Amino acid sequence: MESSVQEARQSIREEVRRLCQDFPDTYWQDVDKHEKYPQEFVDALTTSGYLAALIPEEYGGAGLGITEASIILEEINRSGGNGAVCHAQMYTMGTLLRHGSDEQKRRYLPAIAQGKLRLQAFAVTEPNAGSETTRIETRAVLKGDRYFVTGQKIFISRAHYSDLMLLLARTTPYEELKDKTQGLSVFLVDMREVKKGLEIQPLDIMVNHHTTTCFFEDMEVPVENRLGDEGKGFRYIIDGWNAERILVASESIGDGRWFVDRASKYATNRVVFGRPIGANQGIQFPISKAYAHVEAADLMRFTAASKFDRGEKCGAEANMAKLLASEAAWEAADVCMSTYGGYGFARDYDVERKFRETRLLVAAPVSNNMVLAFLGQNVLGMPKSY
Ligand SMILES: Cc1cc2nc3c(=O)[nH]c(=O)nc-3n(C[C@H](O)[C@H](O)[C@H](O)COP(=O)(O)OP(=O)(O)OC[C@H]3O[C@@H](n4cnc5c(N)ncnc54)[C@H](O)[C@@H]3O)c2cc1C
Repeated sequence: MESSVQEARQSIREEVRRLCQDFPDTYWQDVDKHEKYPQEFVDALTTSGYLAALIPEEYGGAGLGITEASIILEEINRSGGNGAVCHAQMYTMGTLLRHGSDEQKRRYLPAIAQGKLRLQAFAVTEPNAGSETTRIETRAVLKGDRYFVTGQKIFISRAHYSDLMLLLARTTPYEELKDKTQGLSVFLVDMREVKKGLEIQPLDIMVNHHTTTCFFEDMEVPVENRLGDEGKGFRYIIDGWNAERILVASESIGDGRWFVDRASKYATNRVVFGRPIGANQGIQFPISKAYAHVEAADLMRFTAASKFDRGEKCGAEANMAKLLASEAAWEAADVCMSTYGGYGFARDYDVERKFRETRLLVAAPVSNNMVLAFLGQNVLGMPKSY
């Protein structure tokens, strides 16, 4: 690879690292303890331009690739922070870029790039559908020039901290479809303009993720807020999955490196029975092994990201990166917890917070079972379980 590209990426890494230094452990501890939204951090990331990494330059963004976006999220998590507080803007950007009209892009992208408009909510999951997205029931019925949306979404993160919501809803009843992947449509709902029919309730979960349940009752959405063609929404959402998996992998890698750093330092400094605990192979080897697994996952992340940025098929690599990185981070988290002994449970040390946060990445935004099913069925050609 050209050395100028490498240097540019290294300088992004260093700049994000510097930005994150203004948000030390105590900042994230406070946010977690009081279940606050880290607005100051998100503002800093917006002002620096990094949150608009994937928005093309013509719309005021940085016009960077998924490789650079993944480095940004990795560095946030590696610093002890949590990229999940704003990563949805990066995940969802592709749907708007690929399937939005010129008019929609002109209307939304410059304002998002400037931080005047927040695109942080992505509403797919439903209580009765779960991983089977083609079974979602939230209906959008077209009457005149408006859709009327009725239904319920669950686990919708940051809906209280977003102006726009990318919403997947059913426009054709399931029973009327020959092809079950059709009949769903994507809407960019401007929640500031919703007068009635939308209720958002916080969901109490084990991580500070600002997750909600959203209830829709005849919520009006103008037809011009539909992205792309009616009925093709599932395909549009799937188009974004590779980017999402690569970005989640990068957060896991950041977490994994954070755990390995903390564990190896603690093991070197903590003296029990007259020697550093890290001199004991029962402590040292698991840290070394977790380190090796994180670094191996990182190679798959960059393979997937490079292919993505070259416009090549990367489903296998993106899924493997997500699987390997989230498992490596979770292994590193567990090892770090063991290394810290009782102190791992003390909130001041941050290990338990990161432990909770990194565990989420095994299960969401896609569970590793679904990743394994993709590899088994779509890559290796084995029989389908669904
Ligand atoms: C903190 C958090 C934030 C989230 N944020 C969002 C968000 O912003 N927007 C959004 O739309 N969703 C969000 N989600 C939802 C998340 O994407 C879903 O939880 C996930 O897709 C799985 O759906 P489910 O929980 O209903 O699990 P289910 O579908 O009920 O599955 C339960 C378990 O069974 C496994 N399973 C199911 N079928 C099979 C099979 N055929 N083979 C093997 N295993 C199977 C699953 O992999 C999973 O492990 C969030 C979830 C969490 C926890």
